Amino acid sequence: MARKQVAAQREETAGTARIGASGAEAKRGALTPPEREEAFRRLSAHMPGRTKGAKGPKDQPDPFRSVVSCLLSAQSRDVNTAAAVDALFALARTPDEMLALTEAEIARAIKPCGLYNMKARSIVRLCRELIERHDRVVPRDRAGLMSLPGIGRKCADIVMSFAFDEDVIAVDTHVFRVCNRTGITNERSADRTAEALERDVPDWARRDGHFWLIQFGKSVCLSRRPRCETCFLNDLCRAFSATGGVAPASP
Ligand code: SF4
Repeated sequence: MARKQVAAQREETAGTARIGASGAEAKRGALTPPEREEAFRRLSAHMPGRTKGAKGPKDQPDPFRSVVSCLLSAQSRDVNTAAAVDALFALARTPDEMLALTEAEIARAIKPCGLYNMKARSIVRLCRELIERHDRVVPRDRAGLMSLPGIGRKCADIVMSFAFDEDVIAVDTHVFRVCNRTGITNERSADRTAEALERDVPDWARRDGHFWLIQFGKSVCLSRRPRCETCFLNDLCRAFSATGGVAPASP
């Protein structure tokens, strides 16, 4: 694996791990099953999910575009990732068309998302793998997706959720932070958080859980200044109770 790619992955892991490991977080414990159920019930009442205005499976994003978007999203803001994806797919829409481009042409197109030389190499490897081993079809299952170059559990879960309409809670930085502050999970890594969610989240909350948690992380349980005093989960939240009702330290 390229050195920059390793560094980028370490950085991402460190960013999320710091959140989970801060202060007494690891010792606070997880919510009990009834508390977890109540937390999701409140999230469902306050946060928009995918059900509202949801698209049917036929309208799901193109899986290939979804995989490439995920690959380009590492260390990149959403707006820059979107610009890079649009520029690249204006040139090529399939693995074959993408391999017809030179690596330099791919890198130029995806420049807005940063780390573009490394990501261009990854795209070439991804396209080759899809053509040679998957008959040009993006795998639908987690193991198949994670066998693709540059695709880890988070990306695999995002593609399963968004492109294949599976009820999977993908763990991005917002979901990781929210889950391990509240006590919905009590884990130190994104992968272990994903495993805990898969095991412990009530069935009825799996479809929209990812969307509720992300919206909650963006609007209430913010990274640096969580709105604890007015938060509708503060009576359940392990981080809030552990810090004596004061907003938990930012990661
Ligand atoms: S009380 Fe604070 S830390 Fe806990 S979930 Fe709410 S905003 Fe996040």
